[in-house]
Amino acid sequence: MSRKLSRRNFVVSSAATGMMISNSSAKAPTLWIQRGVKPVVVSSSNGNRFKNGGDATCVVTAFKMMTQGADVLDAVIAGVNIVELDPEDTSVGYGGLPNADGVVQLDSSCMHGPKKRAGAVACVEGVRTPSLVAKAVLEQTDHHLLVGKDVQQFARNLGFKIEDDLNTDRSRKAWLEWKRRTDSEHYLDPQKRSEIGMAKTMEMVNEGWIDPQHVFGTINCNGVNAKGEICGVTTTSGLAFKIPGRVGDSPILGAGLYVDGEVGAAGSTGRGEANLFNLCSFLIVENMRRGLHPKDAGMEALKRIKANTIEKRLLNNKGNPNFGINFYIVNAKGEYAGVSMYESKYAVCTENGPQTLDTEPLFKGKP
Ligand code: ASP
Repeated sequence: MSRKLSRRNFVVSSAATGMMISNSSAKAPTLWIQRGVKPVVVSSSNGNRFKNGGDATCVVTAFKMMTQGADVLDAVIAGVNIVELDPEDTSVGYGGLPNADGVVQLDSSCMHGPKKRAGAVACVEGVRTPSLVAKAVLEQTDHHLLVGKDVQQFARNLGFKIEDDLNTDRSRKAWLEWKRRTDSEHYLDPQKRSEIGMAKTMEMVNEGWIDPQHVFGTINCNGVNAKGEICGVTTTSGLAFKIPGRVGDSPILGAGLYVDGEVGAAGSTGRGEANLFNLCSFLIVENMRRGLHPKDAGMEALKRIKANTIEKRLLNNKGNPNFGINFYIVNAKGEYAGVSMYESKYAVCTENGPQTLDTEPLFKGKP
């Protein structure tokens, strides 16, 4: 494919493809390049929000690295590291809202399309960047998933800094307030406890203690470079104030993330239980394998979640799911989409720069 490019686009694209035919006599440059796939990075909307004191967001960092020749997985992980390390994002990494015992437990997974390798960790404590531990599982073990206390030892052995506590003042204060409101009921009846826990959490959202986007909240970031190489990563502190040991969808291959190097990548944020039950990232990639566009592939998965959500406590008064869930999708051609159960946002970076876009919702409005 041959495309006419402005000077600005050329700078990015030539770095991406390395295949340029230049018009050396041009004053106002008219540049033609041969190219394969249009490189793109898609992520949850926090991927274009938090900068952690720097000047670039996750999607910009990942896009730049990728188009300058870095491995796509290195690029998307460097992107999410910005958000993991940012104390202001209380849904990911350092400063993520803790579990019901006040301990920050993190989950992450990553997949390398061309190498057909995967790594994931669940319930990691004391490491700010679980995505890098997931990458170590991918690169340095024969396994795909490590969980619990032993992940910390694994990380320590590899030289990761282990910290006593990943709470920030903000996440600790939010937990103390939640604990104060719920403690008397804590372990009496798990069903009752979890209903009260969620009711109190939502009460705190309404009072401004917790960012509404961070009751659930995660970052997923997927990239495809000009050679069509696809990688993805998902990282999270999971559901705010979760039962200790609860693992959501983020570290589960096929749920919070799935990458097939020949087809595409999908990852998610939102109610992990709904995704675990339906393994939607895998479903979306399989839908794309059958020829569906990323958007249609994602909408099919949302419909599957709706069809399988029948418990009354999970339905609103219209009989639809009463929770949010989003998917960020890219295929091997560089086509992409963000889809969601209800109206939401997602982030993207292309040669035209970063953007925060509306997702394609299955239902209008909010849950
Ligand atoms: N999906 C994550 C989980 O269930 C949380 C989120 O994305 O909001 O752990």
